[in-house]
Amino acid sequence: MSTSRTHQFIEEAELYGAHNYHPLPVVLDKAEGVWVWDVDGKKYMDCLSAYSAVNQGHRHPKIVQALKDQADRVTLTSRGFHNDKMGPMLKLLCEITGYQKALPMNTGAEAVETALKTARKWGQYVKGVPEGKQEIVVCAQNFHGRTITIITFSSDAQTKDGFGPFTPGFVTIPYGDVKALERAITPNTVGFMVEPIQGEAGVVVPPEGYLKACFDLCKKNNVLFIADEVQTGFCRTGRWFACDYEAIKPDIMVLGKALGGGMFPVSAIVADDAVMKVFTPGDHGSTFGGNPLGAAVAQAALEVLRDEKLDKRAAELGPYFMDRLRALNSRHIELVRGKGLLVGVVIKTASGKARPLCEKLMGHGILAKDTHEQVIRFAPALVITKEEIDWAVGVIGKVLA
Ligand SMILES: *Cc1c(COP(=O)(O)O)cnc(C)c1O
Repeated sequence: MSTSRTHQFIEEAELYGAHNYHPLPVVLDKAEGVWVWDVDGKKYMDCLSAYSAVNQGHRHPKIVQALKDQADRVTLTSRGFHNDKMGPMLKLLCEITGYQKALPMNTGAEAVETALKTARKWGQYVKGVPEGKQEIVVCAQNFHGRTITIITFSSDAQTKDGFGPFTPGFVTIPYGDVKALERAITPNTVGFMVEPIQGEAGVVVPPEGYLKACFDLCKKNNVLFIADEVQTGFCRTGRWFACDYEAIKPDIMVLGKALGGGMFPVSAIVADDAVMKVFTPGDHGSTFGGNPLGAAVAQAALEVLRDEKLDKRAAELGPYFMDRLRALNSRHIELVRGKGLLVGVVIKTASGKARPLCEKLMGHGILAKDTHEQVIRFAPALVITKEEIDWAVGVIGKVLA
């Protein structure tokens, strides 16, 4: 129910904020674990988890403590000086991911840009591609962020409309098609960037073996395999990283979202020295990248994922959740797909669009967002319990009956 208080906050946002989003009409002012509350005290299960940035659950006490402690010491030094938090956090990140080096930024889009710059520079100085001729292959229906270079290779017309001119040097191929990658690679190809599961496209899982086959093709052609794990990473899909399912180690992994524990924007790329060595002082940077407040938060965020074994939890509860959704046998559900606790419910076109169903779910205490019109994404925090999943399935069953 919308109350006058809710209306007031929404009207203010509408009046003073640019209209670049179309949120569900709910105003939140409190959260804990998988739950959030609106300004009138109504409780909801958060099944979006800020697009998987809150894998550890809202306000995880250990991450809150790290944030508070660090706020009382030092929050920002810039990279003009060293701080005592960045090194330990990058060490842990490298240990967990198995890479030699990490380069910290803030948002996912910045980390993607960093990966693209890395691939181009590696292409020119290591692979020997002539300056300005570097090509990077990407997949249709991708989502990698919102900068001008990144939207250059978006398949979504709206995200590009009016924002040209765009950045040259990108080639788009269909997702899930190894042969298309083989055809797209030229002597000037320096990188292939791919999401292991396309989250924003509607939780699209590629055919089994696809990532491995693309990886092998990249190795054969001296092309960097870049995995954008911003959404799929950090235990969401039931492994630490979705690429782990095919036992491949990308040349560059792009990380963000849950690295900040739902509290602070922290992103990074990780790679081995053979790739990361292309950077020299002054090449690239960020005022806030590697800041001690974000580093302390990221350190705690990583420790929570590790200590609470949230990869195992997602691996166990994800299939349980999906099985129960399938067992609903709802006439509105075309298909349930996903990995771990990254779940997409595809709504039959005959049943209309997903958005009105999300509004109905909201009325019944579940917050979920439609993506690509026909899909509802369910991605609760990984600290969710079996009982909470049972409750959610009950509600979803009622709404989709
Ligand atoms: C969210 C997302 C990004 C962009 O991250 P921002 O922090 O919003 O810039 C990039 N890649 C993927 C796969 C994402 O899901």
